[in-house]
Amino acid sequence: MKDVTPKYITVLGATGSIGASTLDVIARHPDRYRVFALTANIGVEKLLPLIERFQPSYAVLRDAAAAAQLRACLHDKNGLRDKPLATEVLSGCEGLIQVAADPQVDVVVAAIVGAAGLEPTMAAVRADKQILLANKETLVMAGHLFMAAVAASKAVLLPVDSEHNAIFQCLPAAYQDGSSGRRGLGAAGVRKILLTGSGGPFRNTPLNEFVSITPAQAIAHPNWSMGPKISVDSATMMNKGLELIEACWLFDARPEQVQIVIHPQSVIHSMVEYNDGSILAQLGNPDMRTPIAHALAWPERITSGVGSLDLIAQARLDFQAPDEQRFPCLRLAAEAMRRGGSAPAVLNAANEIAVAAFLAGELRFIDIPVLIEQVMADVPPVEPHSLTDVQNADRDARRTAATIVDQLASR
Ligand code: NAD
Ligand code: MG
Repeated sequence: MKDVTPKYITVLGATGSIGASTLDVIARHPDRYRVFALTANIGVEKLLPLIERFQPSYAVLRDAAAAAQLRACLHDKNGLRDKPLATEVLSGCEGLIQVAADPQVDVVVAAIVGAAGLEPTMAAVRADKQILLANKETLVMAGHLFMAAVAASKAVLLPVDSEHNAIFQCLPAAYQDGSSGRRGLGAAGVRKILLTGSGGPFRNTPLNEFVSITPAQAIAHPNWSMGPKISVDSATMMNKGLELIEACWLFDARPEQVQIVIHPQSVIHSMVEYNDGSILAQLGNPDMRTPIAHALAWPERITSGVGSLDLIAQARLDFQAPDEQRFPCLRLAAEAMRRGGSAPAVLNAANEIAVAAFLAGELRFIDIPVLIEQVMADVPPVEPHSLTDVQNADRDARRTAATIVDQLASR
C-alpha cells in the first residue's frame, strides 16, 4: 500500500449534517486523515462525543459560556472521566479563525450554516488551505472578494455542494485545478451549466395550500437529509437561487449561462453542456458523503460509504422547468445577482431572518419571499470593498428584516 502522510483537518460546523457526513468519511480513512479541530455554535452535548471519538487538538464553541462548560467537562471538573482529554477549548469568532488558519492544518471543511461561516472561511483562504466549501452563503455574500482572495492565495477551493461538485467533476481536467472559474466558461468550450434541483417537498402542492405550510412539513425533504435552514431553503427554492449565485462565482459564469432544471429524483447532481452539443452529467445516490469524499481526496478517489446507484431500480429520470410563480425566491436570487454589489448579501441576510422567523412560528411560509423582496427594496445595494462593507450590508438588512417580521406577524 502507498505510504501517505496524514492530512490534518479542521471541521467548521462539525455538529451539523455536513459535519456528520465529513466525520463519517474521515473515520473510514484513519491512515489518511487526522482531525485537528472541531467547531460548533453552542451545543456542548453534541460536540463532546465527537471530541471523545476524534480527540482533536482544538475544539471551538462560538458561545463563550458554552465553551467554559465544555472546558470543565473535558478537564474533568466533575471527576467523571478516566483521564482528562488534552483537547484545548477556544471560543468566539477568533477561535474559529485560529483553527481555520493554524499552520498545522491542511484542509478546512467550511460547514457552518449561514453568514457566520464567512470570516473563518476567508481566514482559511488567506492561510492557503485546501477548502471544502459547503457554506454557500460565503460566496453569496462576498463572492467577488472571496474569489479574489482565492486567486491571490495558494488556497485550493473545492466545492462540496453536490451540484457544484458535480459541475466541477464535469468540467475539463484543466479546469479541475482547485481554482476553478478564473478563466471563464467560454474558454473551456462550455455552452452552459445545467443546475439540477429536486423542486423540494412542495413541487406538486396546490398553491392554495402554501398558506398553511408548517415548519415540520418544510424541513421534510424528499431526497436529502440536511440541516433545518437549508431544508427550508430547498422548500422555498431559495436554495437553488443561492446555488445559482454560487455557480456564477465558482465557475465564472453569467446568470444566463446557468439553467435551472427540476429533476425530482436527485440522481443527476448537475450537468455541463459543451459547444459541440455534448452534455456531461455526474450521477449517484443522493448522499453528501460522495462530494465530500471527492473533495477530500481530490485528485484521487477514496471510498465514501455510499453504495452503487441502482439504475435498473431507478428506471427513469424526469426533468421539468422551474416554476417561478410558485417559488418567487428563484426570481429574487437571480435579481440580486443581476443587481450586484451588496444585493446578494442583503438577499442572504433577509432570507436568514425570514427562515429563522418561519421556523420559530413567527412568519408564514408564503411571507418568506414577501419579506425578502421588501428588504431588497428598502436596503439599496452598495459596492463592497471589504468584508466590513459586506458585514455592514448584512447588518442593515437583518435590522430591516426584523422590523418587517414584526409588521407581518402583527397583521
Ligand atoms: P446544520 O444546521 O446541520 O449545521 C450547522 C453547523 O454550523 C453546526 O455545527 C452548528 O453548530 C454550526 N453553527 C451554526 N451557527 C453558527 C454560528 N453562528 N457560529 C458558528 N457555528 C455555527 O447545517 P448543514 O445542513 O450541515 O449545512 C451547513 C452548510 O452547508 C450550509 O451553508 C448549507 O447551505 C451547506 N450545505 C449543506 C448540505 C446538506 O446536505 N446538509 C448540502 C449542501 C450545502
Ligand atoms: Mg446543493
